[in-house]
Amino acid sequence: MTEELFRDDADLQSCAATVLAVDEEGIVLDRTVFYPLGGGQAGDAGDLVTADGRRVAIVDTRKHKGRPGAIAHVPAADAPRLQPGERVHACIDGQRRQAHMRFHTATHLLCALVPHPVDGCSITAGYARLDFHTQEPLDKAALTAGLARLVAAAHPVRGRWIAEAELDANPGLVRSMSVQPPRGLGRVRVIEIEGVDLQPCGGTHVANTAAIGAVLVTKIEKKSAMTRRVVLGFAAPAAG
Ligand SMILES: [Zn+2]
Repeated sequence: MTEELFRDDADLQSCAATVLAVDEEGIVLDRTVFYPLGGGQAGDAGDLVTADGRRVAIVDTRKHKGRPGAIAHVPAADAPRLQPGERVHACIDGQRRQAHMRFHTATHLLCALVPHPVDGCSITAGYARLDFHTQEPLDKAALTAGLARLVAAAHPVRGRWIAEAELDANPGLVRSMSVQPPRGLGRVRVIEIEGVDLQPCGGTHVANTAAIGAVLVTKIEKKSAMTRRVVLGFAAPAAG
């Protein structure tokens, strides 16, 4: 098992950790600040640095397929090889993660603006896309304006845990058709954007919608008769 420090504090940039295993999937630590690909959100990149200064570049992070509960830090091809038992300082690429968190939180705002179920989601540092299950057309300018309004309103964003029984009693909380929250733990993590949106989610988010900054809908595509894809981008910073 890898202790997932990003679950309760998405702003943590680094931590000390011990290497538990190194295999073909990557490097497993006892604890980490690296978010693994999941719920549509891309995995983190960054560095593991040893006490004697060796630096292992991490290019991606994934849930370990062979070890349930473990997280695999995928090293660059030319990175020095670590050994189990070594102590490292694990540090994420903060800019890349901040982009994931801004886009991810923006996708929750989109869910509040578009009254249709979600059947797909992808969040990277360069764009985010959300597929809505609907045959109704969506308006690019209206959605961009709606996002700007919710960002400007500076709504607090909070994560908390609720009992599975409470979730079962409120099936409307589950907005996504494809990503069901992990069950069997007795509790489910939900993300609440005060007054705007509440849904189960295990990803990382900014603490206030104001931190999303300037996002816009760059494209709306008709992916199929029943799917409309909304693509988000960051507005280019003003010149000068
Ligand atoms: Zn989320």
